[in-house]
Amino acid sequence: MVKKQIAIFGGGPAGLAAAESLSFQGHAVTVYDAMPTVARKFLLAGKSGLNITHSEDYESFASRFGTSNDRLREALDSFRPSDVRAWAAGLGAETFVGSSGRVFPTAMKASPLLRAWLRRLEAQNVKILTRHRWIGFSNGGYLIEGTGGVHVVQPDAALLSLGGASWPRLGSDGRWLHWLREKGISVDDFQPANCGFDVDWSEHLRGRFSGEPVKSVTASSSAGTIPGEFVITRHGIEGSLVYAHAAALRDSLMAGKAATFDVDLMPGRTKERIAHELGRQDPKASLSTRLRKAVGIDGAKAALIRELSGTTNLGDPRQLAGLIKALPIPVRRTRPIAEAISTAGGLAWDEVDGNYMVKALPGLFVAGEMIDWEAPTGGYLLTACFATGRAAARGIETWLGRS
Ligand SMILES: Cc1cc2nc3c(=O)[nH]c(=O)nc-3n(C[C@H](O)[C@H](O)[C@H](O)COP(=O)(O)OP(=O)(O)OC[C@H]3O[C@@H](n4cnc5c(N)ncnc54)[C@H](O)[C@@H]3O)c2cc1C
Repeated sequence: MVKKQIAIFGGGPAGLAAAESLSFQGHAVTVYDAMPTVARKFLLAGKSGLNITHSEDYESFASRFGTSNDRLREALDSFRPSDVRAWAAGLGAETFVGSSGRVFPTAMKASPLLRAWLRRLEAQNVKILTRHRWIGFSNGGYLIEGTGGVHVVQPDAALLSLGGASWPRLGSDGRWLHWLREKGISVDDFQPANCGFDVDWSEHLRGRFSGEPVKSVTASSSAGTIPGEFVITRHGIEGSLVYAHAAALRDSLMAGKAATFDVDLMPGRTKERIAHELGRQDPKASLSTRLRKAVGIDGAKAALIRELSGTTNLGDPRQLAGLIKALPIPVRRTRPIAEAISTAGGLAWDEVDGNYMVKALPGLFVAGEMIDWEAPTGGYLLTACFATGRAAARGIETWLGRS
């Protein structure tokens, strides 16, 4: 096989996965990353345990990518959640399935896995050049701004794996949008995904309950009814249950509609039973006492009921039970993209062929979060980044074999 020169711009999970595959095939791979070290977002993901993939049945797993299900399917088929676990184990990071079905390394962090991964890449002669930023195109080559100034590289094939636009201080700042648009390539503006929302809390709720978790509830939106928990923040709401509804809430807001995060505070009990229990309380007792004695609700949950009661007659057991079962939290806007876990938007799928090559720029491939797909939290993001990195590597091999 003829050894080729391959440049990978962006050393996150997608870029490193492609580098691993291509260097394994014997190609000379150079990874250029703008930051002083690679995979900073991957390391940050490790702070919350590194949810690397999910253990649900594969058909369900592969259906979590919404309108991108079909486009991602082939890449995911070739690198399934079971492959992610085997790959991590091969790097010394055994994994376990958490109670929610999410999969984590037993070390509950990313650094040992990343260290072993970088050692493997080094052993496969991958060159990693940090503090090297791709800054656009130049006569068939790629402009790189490095420590020694600006120069042009002209590899046999190149991969962009520059990430989305959340947490820009970790490297993925979305500045590349501009250089692709200059080439007439369609790139959708980034939107926050898996993000928190602003809520106009009263000073009382903000002051007393910011940071309080609201556990064992369900929330509903057009995404369905999902169990979980969320956190009241100074600005509004955050947490895994909010992220699960974030795309639906964001899309409503973007369409100019009102959006509410509808919470069932007592998913295990019917409205009738709650109303019955409330009806047995002394009507002269305070709201807090009736809620606590009848249904064991207090703290943040009771505060939310009071805060969001609107025109509900809290003295009427049926109306109060209705509020407990469907508490509407009106969300005003998404939190800023810089705070989001991930982003929607990016390079439009129409611009990408089945080999992950940019149709208008033969020899240039793409992978990871910079393509226009989104997924909930639960290990779907990282799995798809690994899978598209590997798929793009196969695409590069196929293209190099033909050219
Ligand atoms: C707080 C947090 C927690 C998360 N937890 C999880 C989790 O538990 N499970 C999960 O599945 N996902 C999680 N994610 C999401 C996941 O980390 C990302 O989806 C994933 O890292 C994206 O991989 P990527 O390779 O596409 O891009 P990135 O990881 O963003 O990497 C892109 C790389 O490109 C470099 N770069 C950018 N522009 C240039 C340029 N012009 N030139 C050269 N280099 C450039 C950047 O420095 C960066 O190293 C989390 C994200 C955050 C913010």
